[in-house]
Amino acid sequence: MNDEWFQFAKEVKKMYGKDFVPLHEPTFDNLEICNVTDCIQTGWVSSVGKYVDQFERDLAEYTGVKRAVAVVNGTAALQIALKIAGVQADDEVFMPALTFIATANAATYLGAIPHFVDVSTETLGLDPFKLDKHIQSIGVMKDNQLVNKSTGRIIRAVVPMHTFGHPVDLDPLLDVCQKYNLILVEDAAESLGSYYKGKHTGGFGRTAALSFNGNKIITTGGGGAILTNDEALADYAKHITTTAKVPHSWEFNHDEIGYNYRMPNINAALGCAQLQKLDGFIASKRTLTQKYVNMLMNNKDAKLFVENPNTKSNYWLQTLQLKTGVNRDTVVQKLNNAGVMARPIWIPLNTLDIFQMCPSGDLSVTYKLQKEIINIPSSPIKFSE
Ligand SMILES: *Cc1c(COP(=O)(O)O)cnc(C)c1O
Repeated sequence: MNDEWFQFAKEVKKMYGKDFVPLHEPTFDNLEICNVTDCIQTGWVSSVGKYVDQFERDLAEYTGVKRAVAVVNGTAALQIALKIAGVQADDEVFMPALTFIATANAATYLGAIPHFVDVSTETLGLDPFKLDKHIQSIGVMKDNQLVNKSTGRIIRAVVPMHTFGHPVDLDPLLDVCQKYNLILVEDAAESLGSYYKGKHTGGFGRTAALSFNGNKIITTGGGGAILTNDEALADYAKHITTTAKVPHSWEFNHDEIGYNYRMPNINAALGCAQLQKLDGFIASKRTLTQKYVNMLMNNKDAKLFVENPNTKSNYWLQTLQLKTGVNRDTVVQKLNNAGVMARPIWIPLNTLDIFQMCPSGDLSVTYKLQKEIINIPSSPIKFSE
């Protein structure tokens, strides 16, 4: 079998210098070892320690968002980001159907109901123009709140997700939020280091969530963070993610049902080291994108998905877009058989049994992209030139 995918796989393996190339691996060196060793030697591995505070300060500085609150994972970060932004039980929350399950789970944990809407072929993320049209057909304003005419529920918020690091079109989305009094909460789990019109993602809404899972652009083993420009909300996020304990030298007084979601110090120690390398990872991923673009120049089946004007993507996961009619699973199978890990985009969440009862809009672009989008190996490489 000597077709163009076999040829492509050969080049990818050569570039990575491996017989099997995984989708995404974390990159560590001595800095991570030093920080983690420091935690172990001093005994500060758990819920108290200097690295959590430092990681939160470093994240705020890097993203340009006023405050960051580190937590156990990205799903917990999104749950708390939604809660402190004002999402309540029985509210509906707009989100793309084409996202990782965590986006919908986080809303569901609060008793809210995901309301799935379509994505755009330009960004792979939520389509603000189509959202506006959908609202015009299903929504009505009552007491300055958007209400779903068919369910009678308040639609409280909208959660865009910056797919594989590519920012959604935020300006028109902000207009939609303004027009219908919707709270914007960004799922920025995949977009640390991605910018829209020069401003870091995660700083556009009331709150946002980051993830530092093992496969993300930087990792703390497992971890996440809530971002917000609102000091009071940040303090509240810190309070409820640390069991809502009222500060006191010895008394265990808690003023609401809180969560034990705090990021352990040993994980934050990893994060501090990783964050110092983020710009290097992004530079490497951007070079990788150019290499893939060149490798695919004459490929008849696919092209690489590249960033939009006005955005800077972190290129967390490199993304292939197949031409219409090319069989996705055949390509995925060929690449995996040839030792190059490839994976299709998610199954639209509205089609999962667990979310079938949720409201949704027209999802024609979601279904089209589901058949065309594949991720290929994306770990940062040390390019010599
Ligand atoms: C990774 C991710 C999250 C959070 O995942 P965790 O594994 O809980 O850290 C949330 N949303 C999206 C879109 C993600 O990719």
